[in-house]
Amino acid sequence: MTKDDYFSDLNEKERDIIVYKGTETPFSGKYNNHFDAGVFICRACKNPLYESNSKFDSGCGWPSFDDEILGSISRHKDFSGGRERTEICCNQCGGHLGHVFHGEKITEKDTRHCVNSLSIQFKKYNNLSKIYLGAGCFWTVDAIFSNTKGVYMSQTGYMGGNIVNPQHNDVRLGKTNHLEVVEIYFDEEIISLDSLLNIFWANFDSKNLNKRISDIVSQYTFAIFYNTDEQKEIIFNSINSIQKKWGQSIDTQIKKSGDFFRAEEQHQRYFMKNKINFRS
Ligand SMILES: [Zn+2]
Repeated sequence: MTKDDYFSDLNEKERDIIVYKGTETPFSGKYNNHFDAGVFICRACKNPLYESNSKFDSGCGWPSFDDEILGSISRHKDFSGGRERTEICCNQCGGHLGHVFHGEKITEKDTRHCVNSLSIQFKKYNNLSKIYLGAGCFWTVDAIFSNTKGVYMSQTGYMGGNIVNPQHNDVRLGKTNHLEVVEIYFDEEIISLDSLLNIFWANFDSKNLNKRISDIVSQYTFAIFYNTDEQKEIIFNSINSIQKKWGQSIDTQIKKSGDFFRAEEQHQRYFMKNKINFRS
């Protein structure tokens, strides 16, 4: 296929961005606030460009990624707009994606691919399961499960409260009735829900939970939000067996999942970003 073949089906708006190197209005694109598990492919030629677990919220108004799928992107010096920037293009069709920046220190990789939503297309991973776990502050839960084999992606957020788009300061003080939870996408061919729960209990026994939350407010308890009845059964069986093992009952909220609000970017991968060993 020639480049023109790749571009022949684009509509006018897509063509303005992808072929003529335009820039969509900030905060206008459909993927700016999109944080689901899957892959972003080139809108024109379908080349896989970014895994969704490299996406972050830079606040700039365009989808931001701190890593690319190896070999998928080409870089070019761009002197337009009176300054030097690095343009990024799809390595297969040459379509314009946006620009890449370094040194902003927003994520650990210190890289921001600033990409137009119109240049990309999201393909959801349908083979992944999803569960929400809470154990007080979500930083530690995120640190553990983002490094667990079989977990594709984890992100911190809020669930179970009574307003939309809650902010951390309000949640922390119990003003919104939300719980701090971590959304975990995992591949059951690599790790089962039961194994994930065993990791959860092993890291958050009730003694430690109480110790860590000296500023006790009601939202700091164990919480598990399930998506299916099958998950619910696995969760209840897991709690029964861990209660027998510990010889005590565990105070855990178990509910059907509701709206998940992704936490502010500074609360994602908190310990990695702040270079803190969470086990200390
Ligand atoms: Zn392409």
